[in-house]
Amino acid sequence: MTYRLHRPESLHALVREMVTRAGWTEAQAQETAHHLVLANLSGHDSHGVGMIPLYFTSLADGNLKPDAAPVTKLDGAPFLIIDGQVALGQPTAREAVERAAKMAQDGGVAIVNLLDAHHIGRIGHYAEIAAEAGLISFFWVNVAGRPPIVAPYAAKEARFGTNPHAIGIPVPDGEPIILDFATSRMAHGKARVALNKGVQVPPGYILDGEGKPTTDPAHVFQHAIPDLPLGALLPFGDHKGAGLSLIAELLSAGLMGAARIDEKPQKSWIINSLFGVLIDPSRLEPDAALRRSRTESYLAFVRAAKPQDPADPVLAPGDKERAIRAERGRAGIPLDDETWSQIKAAAARYGIDAEQF
Ligand code: NAD
Repeated sequence: MTYRLHRPESLHALVREMVTRAGWTEAQAQETAHHLVLANLSGHDSHGVGMIPLYFTSLADGNLKPDAAPVTKLDGAPFLIIDGQVALGQPTAREAVERAAKMAQDGGVAIVNLLDAHHIGRIGHYAEIAAEAGLISFFWVNVAGRPPIVAPYAAKEARFGTNPHAIGIPVPDGEPIILDFATSRMAHGKARVALNKGVQVPPGYILDGEGKPTTDPAHVFQHAIPDLPLGALLPFGDHKGAGLSLIAELLSAGLMGAARIDEKPQKSWIINSLFGVLIDPSRLEPDAALRRSRTESYLAFVRAAKPQDPADPVLAPGDKERAIRAERGRAGIPLDDETWSQIKAAAARYGIDAEQF
């Protein structure tokens, strides 16, 4: 499988053009392009511009609607509850998190629940927004409207989505700590990237539809195995990741009546609900210089641990994404041929020649 390098600015301009032509506002298109390209720049191609063809299929099927508008159900500090109305996810979630950040800056803490947005992307993006506002944040997200794809611990079949979890800790005048992961051992989008590249995944990540271990990513995509039962991704950390996944489902959607994975009809949409807690660290320790030195001295202690392999240094959460951003900012973003041809086909539906970008 070959790939081509794309300039981040070109991909940004292309996505912005596609999203506005499809009927969303310039501001919505800007945020969607910014979010997706930043995901690629961060090394998370699973949540980058390769998602656009899926969004456009959802749009063509009438499941994702440009005129859908989120509705605030409760705006009373410290609580903010928004019904996302399956609106375009990235701008909807950004607005919810920015409103919660303002609430936490004013009152010290905010608890935000965004119910039923369309796919909101890379959850670390929202921990970064909170960190830029000087706030600690915790986010749990479920995935609905799709078939279950992650097996509970000890199960042969799926019951969860890839239910991601993100935590951000700002460092005054420094780079934040951003821990952000799917509760499956491999994000579903990373299996899609492997499928598009025509490569196997390592052992220990996927079960086939009979519950047997496999390295073929086709088993977690029904369109790739139309005559076979869908398989499952395994949770990370056995019972621990599976437990976190269950908690994410209940906190984000289950308690509040938003779509659970076993409830919403399965269509060409991806529905995410998000539960977040944002905390102003200056309420815990007002001395910013002390907070910075306490955090940085501990990170230095951790990073100084002897590596098992000198080529693989000890990192803090968020370091890897920052390093890849610097590298891809210079060299460009690699997109495999299959992903690029899917983007070109989606663009062509709106009369856009992606090769011109
Ligand atoms: P991953 O396995 O790449 O883990 C990423 C996290 O681990 C980051 O915090 C990173 O800084 C840290 N990390 C990576 N390598 C490290 C190292 N060597 N040392 C220390 N820390 C390290 O992430 P993933 O599980 O593949 O998830 C990818 C993305 O998919 C995430 O952004 C997640 O939010 C997103 N996601 C979204 C949805 C959705 O429905 N919206 C669903 C699942 C996942």
